Amino acid sequence: MNLVPRTSASLALRHYVAGMARLDRVITSGIFSLDGGDYEVDNNVWIVGDDREAIVLDAAHNAEAIMEALGGRTLKAIVSTHGHNDHINAAAEVADATGAPIYLHPDDTMLWEVQYPDRRVDNTLADGQVIEVGGAELTVLHTPGHSPGGCCLHLPEDGLLFSGDTLFNGGPGATGRSFSSYDLILDSIEHKLFSLPEHTVVHTGHGDSTSIAAESASLPEWRAQQS
Ligand SMILES: [Zn+2]
Ligand SMILES: [Zn+2]
Repeated sequence: MNLVPRTSASLALRHYVAGMARLDRVITSGIFSLDGGDYEVDNNVWIVGDDREAIVLDAAHNAEAIMEALGGRTLKAIVSTHGHNDHINAAAEVADATGAPIYLHPDDTMLWEVQYPDRRVDNTLADGQVIEVGGAELTVLHTPGHSPGGCCLHLPEDGLLFSGDTLFNGGPGATGRSFSSYDLILDSIEHKLFSLPEHTVVHTGHGDSTSIAAESASLPEWRAQQS
């Protein structure tokens, strides 16, 4: 299935065959705003499930593109890895169109309220929580540092991790702006992510995918750097 790029977003949709779960990626484009700055960004929207039902990880920028990728499947949840506006700015529209509940860790409520001052999330995320979709089980890993409520989603059956902005191909997520901590993100990466099996494939919130093995060798180098 191919999608035609639309005016407000450049899209690419790939259907990955990975273990039991069906995985689709939609790339959407828009503006990330924090601390008074605006930045153009491309976001990865990951859709996990099967041919009947799915969960959207980070409803970014373009509800129409996300709905098209869902293709009429039942949407069970919209899970937000964190509260930065570029990861949640299409969540309300997708929720209203599908009836799916929006999940976010409560420690990112102050970020959520910047985007949605008059709306609350439907459900909270917590470390160790399991979210089921299409026979697959996603485990929530609370990984603060990029933001206080940042979470990753682990799909052990398929050897997949969805890392949001906690871990990228080439290093940890940004920690130079409000509510971030470099020491905390390295602790989260070391203890929550690098303890996963080395072959685990890491699908990130922006850019290319990577693996635990590819990133873990660099930890001492990251530790030696200042934030
Ligand atoms: Zn972010
Ligand atoms: Zn981001």
